Amino acid sequence: MTTSVTISEVGPRDGLQSVDAVMPTESKKAWVKAEAEAGVSEIEVGSFVPPALLPQMADTAEIVAYAKTLPNLDVVTLIPNLKGAERAIAVGVDKMSIPFSMSETHSIKNVRKDHQAMLAEIQAIAELVAGQPDGQRPHFEVGLSTAFGCTIEGPVSEDRVTRLAEAAMEAGVAEVGLSDTTGYANPAQVTRMVRQIKAAIGSDKLNTLHLHNTRGLGLANVMAGLSEGITTFDASLGGLGGCPFAPGASGNIVTEDLVFMLEAMGIDTGINLDKLLKVRDIIAEALPGEPLYGFTPDAGLPLGFGSAAA
Ligand code: ZN
Repeated sequence: MTTSVTISEVGPRDGLQSVDAVMPTESKKAWVKAEAEAGVSEIEVGSFVPPALLPQMADTAEIVAYAKTLPNLDVVTLIPNLKGAERAIAVGVDKMSIPFSMSETHSIKNVRKDHQAMLAEIQAIAELVAGQPDGQRPHFEVGLSTAFGCTIEGPVSEDRVTRLAEAAMEAGVAEVGLSDTTGYANPAQVTRMVRQIKAAIGSDKLNTLHLHNTRGLGLANVMAGLSEGITTFDASLGGLGGCPFAPGASGNIVTEDLVFMLEAMGIDTGINLDKLLKVRDIIAEALPGEPLYGFTPDAGLPLGFGSAAA
């Protein structure tokens, strides 16, 4: 099993887009800065969607510009299409990720594109990236969303996910990630799908899992991914955003709990958990009344945590 893991904080994007209130720009900057100072090396700071669609993400360009001034931080944004990619490249993101829904019904409903149209869009973005000057090409990743099941279609064919992962690679992306958008995944399914897709596209082309904790299986799914060589996990501070269908359940897996689990197992995250726990205060102050999740923040760190010889 791997000895170090990258945690990609997605709260400023996935968390905030699920919250009705709009977090003030200065609070977002304080959040991103505090997490970077706690040792988080990758943060998805926003999404280049039209502001009319998601007013929570309207200041993404400003947040990217600010985050780029912070040391030792890879700045990531979500992009929905070619236009979003152009905006992301213009502000110099390090990495951009486009969601590609494995459920075609979901894709048509969400972005009005079937699989063929999405693959054409992905190819156009890959060509845009390839045409950038040396040193200015962002890492372009496709997030295979609803890969473990869809709230409209139900089960999603694992063979179809694998075929679409291959098609995305052929369209010119750097790598794909697997996203449990709906919180349907279980550990056996994670094991099976990571194996199958790595075998199809190359073991170094699938490194990231984006997991939700809708049914409480988030960390169990992380363990399954770790065993199959996954090295990057998306997570959200305080599990921000929650799940509208499951009161009490966090949205994304909770960054604090994930860091605790990995560090307690002797897997290096580079993150200082004491510092990370304090970052919650920034969110609590900026979004009063918004529930924050996490067992570790509630219970506190075990006596002697961090002092044991690993
Ligand atoms: Zn998500």
